[in-house]
Amino acid sequence: MKAECKKWLEKKLEELQARESYSLEKTNESIAKQYKIAPAKIVKLNYNENLFMPKEKLASLMREVAEECDLRIYPQEEESKLKEKISDYLKIPKDYVVVGNGSDELIDRIGRLFLEKGDKAISVTPTFPVFRYCIKHQDAECIAVPLLKNFGLDVTQLLHNFTSETKLLYLCSPNNPTANQFTMNEVENLIEEFPGIVIVDEAYAEYADYSMVSHVDKYENLIILRTFSKAFGLAGLRLGYAVTNATLAKVLAEKTPLPFPVSTFTLSMGRKLLENFAVVEKAVKELKVERGTLIKKLNEISGIGAFDSKTNFVLFNTDKSYEDVYQNLLRQGILVKKFGKILHLDNCLRTTVGLPKMNAKLLEALKEIFR
Ligand code: PMP
Repeated sequence: MKAECKKWLEKKLEELQARESYSLEKTNESIAKQYKIAPAKIVKLNYNENLFMPKEKLASLMREVAEECDLRIYPQEEESKLKEKISDYLKIPKDYVVVGNGSDELIDRIGRLFLEKGDKAISVTPTFPVFRYCIKHQDAECIAVPLLKNFGLDVTQLLHNFTSETKLLYLCSPNNPTANQFTMNEVENLIEEFPGIVIVDEAYAEYADYSMVSHVDKYENLIILRTFSKAFGLAGLRLGYAVTNATLAKVLAEKTPLPFPVSTFTLSMGRKLLENFAVVEKAVKELKVERGTLIKKLNEISGIGAFDSKTNFVLFNTDKSYEDVYQNLLRQGILVKKFGKILHLDNCLRTTVGLPKMNAKLLEALKEIFR
C-alpha cells in the first residue's frame, strides 16, 4: 500500500474504532469457563429469548423447509409468500410489509433513509438501545426524554422537543426494559403531533394488550416494527419486518439495502411458523402463565420489587447493589441483564421469563441472596 493511502487507512480506522460499539453480553461458554460450571447448567435469562417454543418442533419444521427450499434460486418468491402470510396474520395488505434481517436491521435501514448529519431523532429513556446506536451512525443527535416514574410517556416533554429538525421518533411499546405498554391514546397523540416519522417497535406485541398495526392506514408517518425473534422463537434466524403504508413500504424495501436481503431458508421458516401458528399461540399462553407466577414469586422475596410485564421478560429493582446481585447469580451460572439505575430506581435487573425450571433456579438463588 502506498504511504499516503496507508495514512488515510490508519486515520479512518482510528475514527471507526473510536465509534461506540454495541456491546454484547457474556456467552454461556465464557461463563462456563470462568466459573467452572458445565455449559449445560448455565441458566441464560439475559436476552429475552423464547424457550417456550419447543426446540424439537422447530427442528422438524426446519427439516420440512430444507426439503422444500431450492437454495440455488434467489429468494424472490419466498419473500412474496411470507408477505402474503404476514398480511393474513395481521389483516393488512401485502404491500404494507417489508422484511429484514431482524427488526434491528430495519431500525438501521430507517435511520439510513431518513436521518442526515445534524438531524435530530427522539426517543425515551430507558428504552431499547439499538435506536440510539443507529442514530449515532448517521451522525445525528439523539434526544432521550425520560419516562415518568410509573414508566409512562412524558407526553408534555416529548411534545416540547418536537421541532422541524426532529425527523424520527422511536417508541418501543411494550418497552424494553420496563416491560409496560404505552397507552394507545398517548401514542396516537404523539403520531399526530410529530413532524417526522414515528417508529413503533412492537417486538413484544404477541405478549401485549394491543397492536397499532391497524393504524398504519390512518397515519402517513407511522412505521411498526415486528419480529420473529420473540414469540416465534426464531432469534437465531434473524427475521423481522416493518408494517407501514404502501408508499413508505416501497421506499424502505427498494431504497435499502441491496436486493434479496433475507435468505430463502429464513423466509420459509417464517412462513412455516405462520402456517403452524397454533404452536406459537400455545407457547405465548404458557409463557404468560409463567410470567405471572414469576412476578408474584419475585415480589414475595423481601428486598425485591418486580414490575408488571406485557413482554416475555420482567424488570425488578432490589435494595441490594445490582452489581453484587448480578455477580452472585453469575457465579452460580445464572445470567440476567443488569441495568443499575433506571429513573428513580437504583438497582434494576431484567430477567427473561424462562422455563419453569430455570425460573425456579433463579428464585432459589435470589432467596438465598436476600435471606
Ligand atoms: N426491538 C426490541 C424492543 C427488542 O427488545 C429487540 C431484541 N432484544 C429487538 C427489537 C431486536 O429484534 P430482532 O431480533 O428482530 O433484531
